Amino acid sequence: MAEREFSFWDKKAETMPRNEIETIQLELLKKQVENALLTPFYKERLTKVGITSPNDIKSLDDLKRIPFTTKHDLREVYPYGLLAVPHSEIVRVHASSGTTGTPTVIYLTAKDVDMAADTMARGLAAAGCNRYDTCQNMMTYGLFTGGMSFHYGAEKLGMTVVPTSSGNTLRQIKFMHDFGTSVTHATPSYMLHLHQAMKESEYKREEFKWRIGISGAEPYSEQLRNKMEQELGIEVYNCYGMSELNGPGVAFECQLRQGMHVWEDRYIMEIINPDTLEPVKDGEEGELVMTILCRDAMPLLRYRTRDLTHVITEPCACGRTHRRIARFTGRTDDMLIINGVNVFPSQIEEVLLKAKGVGANYLIVVDKKGDLDKLTVQVEVTPEVFADDARVLNNLRDTLKSEMQALITINPAIELKEPGSIPQAETKAKRVNDLRPKD
Ligand code: AMP
Ligand code: ZN
Repeated sequence: MAEREFSFWDKKAETMPRNEIETIQLELLKKQVENALLTPFYKERLTKVGITSPNDIKSLDDLKRIPFTTKHDLREVYPYGLLAVPHSEIVRVHASSGTTGTPTVIYLTAKDVDMAADTMARGLAAAGCNRYDTCQNMMTYGLFTGGMSFHYGAEKLGMTVVPTSSGNTLRQIKFMHDFGTSVTHATPSYMLHLHQAMKESEYKREEFKWRIGISGAEPYSEQLRNKMEQELGIEVYNCYGMSELNGPGVAFECQLRQGMHVWEDRYIMEIINPDTLEPVKDGEEGELVMTILCRDAMPLLRYRTRDLTHVITEPCACGRTHRRIARFTGRTDDMLIINGVNVFPSQIEEVLLKAKGVGANYLIVVDKKGDLDKLTVQVEVTPEVFADDARVLNNLRDTLKSEMQALITINPAIELKEPGSIPQAETKAKRVNDLRPKD
C-alpha cells in the first residue's frame, strides 16, 4: 500500500529533529527573557531569582528558575504592563475574561500578527485544509481571538474566508450552501446546533461541500467527535488555544487525529503537578504551562493555563516532530466555558454583590438546551423586594441580566427566588450546578 501523503505548511519546520527544536527554543527563550526584562513586572520577578540578563539563561533547564505567570498577574498589570515595545508598534489588541471585571489583554505588533497567522496556517494545513477551500469562521469576531486570529491564519493559508462570525444559524447555512463552504470553524456545541438546523432547512446534505470542521474553544470528548463526524459526514479536528497565547492554533490535530501537535519552536510546553508545581513524569496528566517564544510586544513566561492534559509520548506517524497533547480533561480553576465563552463564577458574583435587593444566596446553573449551553442564574432576593410588586422584581431581573451580559457577553436567564429557597450548603457554598452531560 502506498504511504499516506500528509499535508504540511512548513514541512521543514514541522519535521525538524528534536535537537534543532531545542536549539531554537533556547535561542528564542533568551530573546524573550531579554524582552521581558524591559517590563517592570518581569524585571522585578526575574531579578529576584537572579536573572538580570539573557546570558543568565544557559540551557533550557534554566527555564525552571523563572517564576510562573498567572491570569491574576495579567489582571494586576492591566492593561499595558507587559508592553516590551514602543506603543506605536502595537497594531492589535485582544482580550479575554478575567476572573472579575478586569479582562486579560494581549497586544501584538505587525510581526506578531503575522507570526500568529503563520502558526495558525500550520495547524490548518495539518488538518488537511488548503487554498482551494472556502472557510466559514463562525467564531465571534471582536476582542475574542477565535474570530480574527483564526481569520488571519486561514487567509495566510490562502483559503477563501467567509467571516460570518457567530450566530444567525439560518444565514450561516445559506452561506455554506451558496459559497460552497468546505471548512467551518465553530465550537462543538454550535456544530451540532448547526447540523440540526441544516436538517430542518430547505437544503439537502449533498448540496453542501462541507468536509472539515475545526472545533475547539471548549472541551469535548472523543465520543462527541465521533458523533459529529458520523452525523455531519465531515472530519472534525480539535484545535486548542487561548487569548493569552495569541488565540486558537497553539496546538492542532494532524490528519491522524490522535492528539494535538504543539508548535514547539514557538511555545515551550511544560506539564506540572498543579499542587506541587513540579513537572510531572513524561506522559502523566497535569497542568499545561506555556512560554511564548515568538511574540515581541508582550512576553509571557511560564504561563499557567489551568488546563489539564498529558503529553502523548509516542512520535506521530505524520512525521511531525512537535509533541502532541491529549484532549483536555478539565481545569484547575472554576472557569466555566459556556458556548465557547469563558465565564468565571466570580464575575457573576460581582454583579450580584453590586445590585440592591439581592439576598443571601445564589446558584449558577449550566445546562443544555438542544445542542447549546444555557446559563441560568438563580438569585434569592431580599424579603423587602420579594414582598414588593412585580414591577420591582422585573426591574431587578432586567438590571441583573443586562449587567451580566455586559460583563460576560452572554445572555443569562435570571430566576429570582424567594428568600431562603436556595438550599444553603453546610460547608462550602456550592455556587455552580453544571448539568451538562460529559459526553
Ligand atoms: P479563550 O482565552 O477565550 O480563547 O479561552 C481559552 C480556554 O478555552 C482554554 O484555556 C481552555 O480552557 C479552553 N479551550 C480552548 N480550546 C480548547 C479545546 N480544544 N479543548 C478544550 N478546551 C479548550
Ligand atoms: Zn501528527
